[in-house]
Amino acid sequence: MKPRSGDWAKIGEDWVVHLDQLQLLKQWSQDPGFQRAVQKVKQENKLKLSQLLEKEYNIKINPSSLFDIQVKRIHEYKRQLLNCLHIITLYNRIKKDPNANITPRTIMIGGKAAPGYYVAKKIIKLICSVASVVNNDPIVGDKLKVIFLENYRVTLAERIMPAADLSEQISTAGTEASGTGNMKFMLNGALTIGTLDGANVEMAEEMGNDNIFIFGMTVDDVEALQNRGYNAYDYYNRNPEIRQCVDQIQNGYFSPNNPDEFKDIADILLKYDRFYLLADYEAYIECQDKVSSIYQDQTKWVEMAINNIASSGKFSSDRTIEEYAKDIWGVEPSWEKLPAPHEPREEDATPAVK
Ligand SMILES: *Cc1c(COP(=O)(O)O)cnc(C)c1O
Repeated sequence: MKPRSGDWAKIGEDWVVHLDQLQLLKQWSQDPGFQRAVQKVKQENKLKLSQLLEKEYNIKINPSSLFDIQVKRIHEYKRQLLNCLHIITLYNRIKKDPNANITPRTIMIGGKAAPGYYVAKKIIKLICSVASVVNNDPIVGDKLKVIFLENYRVTLAERIMPAADLSEQISTAGTEASGTGNMKFMLNGALTIGTLDGANVEMAEEMGNDNIFIFGMTVDDVEALQNRGYNAYDYYNRNPEIRQCVDQIQNGYFSPNNPDEFKDIADILLKYDRFYLLADYEAYIECQDKVSSIYQDQTKWVEMAINNIASSGKFSSDRTIEEYAKDIWGVEPSWEKLPAPHEPREEDATPAVK
């Protein structure tokens, strides 16, 4: 393969089979030429996804808005509902002060619910209902758009990950074993907003806390809260923005044709919530405000994005399998020469016609 040229040709191509070599990109994270090249790739990917979604959902997307994405199975512990509370908060803030300087966002949530998981399906319905109110409000304009991505699957993930600015990894600390979506976003230069849960912990270790937006309770904090007893009303009564969101869900603001539609969701938030959404709400919103403000400084943002890509080498499946081989299976590598992933293999050759 002949080496490529241009502003992105900085570290050769060995990183394809030795992913930790992405570290070499760190030295270019403040280089204006390389920053521009990375921004250009991201912008092209955002444009391609916009075109796909505009066709699919008949909606106009602002391609320079912050693409804020949460894609994963719908589950209460993954807290798509917390993301939804942020959306409602942004909407309420725009309605309250239409002239406030806000960072335009396109917020996408996608994922499947298990067939018998009633609450997960209700959460999808709520997201779609909120989207319909937000997207059709002329006061909101192109400051905020909300899209529920149907039929999330690998084919769609292949389009989404490269186009993401912000990756949502907001599960309650102590609930996510690892996560892999978080790693795919990081490798593709999205910044992460997340809790100290699952592999987010190792990701923060690799890139340093300056390159990731960590918020909320740690595993120890969650345990302490559990022990002293969680009462969602403590947060509901204290924070007027929480109160407004929960009341709107409760009183049919997003379901005018069926005002009781989301009463059970409000009930979960206030009475039966095993994942402590309201306890993390304030820290989450504050952290999202920081995300919005840093996105205004595109030079800073792309520097962080490059540091994310450069720090993602550890999350190679080759490294993982190597560790399993050594520490668990106790097997030695065979150094028989195999073709690199991008090289043609003999068994793939077109068989000769008999
Ligand atoms: C990566 C991936 C997942 C897993 O996502 P998590 O955020 O780790 O839960 C699920 N579905 C698809 C289609 C994926 O590509």
